[in-house]
Amino acid sequence: MPIYEYEPEDGNCKTCGGRFELRRPADREPLKACPLCRKPVRKAVSAVNSPRHAKPVSLRDAKSAGFQVLKRLDEGVYEKL
Ligand SMILES: [Zn+2]
Repeated sequence: MPIYEYEPEDGNCKTCGGRFELRRPADREPLKACPLCRKPVRKAVSAVNSPRHAKPVSLRDAKSAGFQVLKRLDEGVYEKL
């Protein structure tokens, strides 16, 4: 069962801390309200992939900084670039 991350549409919730994760079946309708505070919520972009939090890094920058850049091809499969 996948874990979805949700955040309130106004971005702030004292009850759930402004962001929460929920494990639910993939075929279930998306959650529309916070189960704790009943505020409308939207599905949050995973923090790992979110461009809002991470400064965009070019492939060359990453490589020159010594990072090995991997492209995710499939679950657990990575291609070395
Ligand atoms: Zn809430």
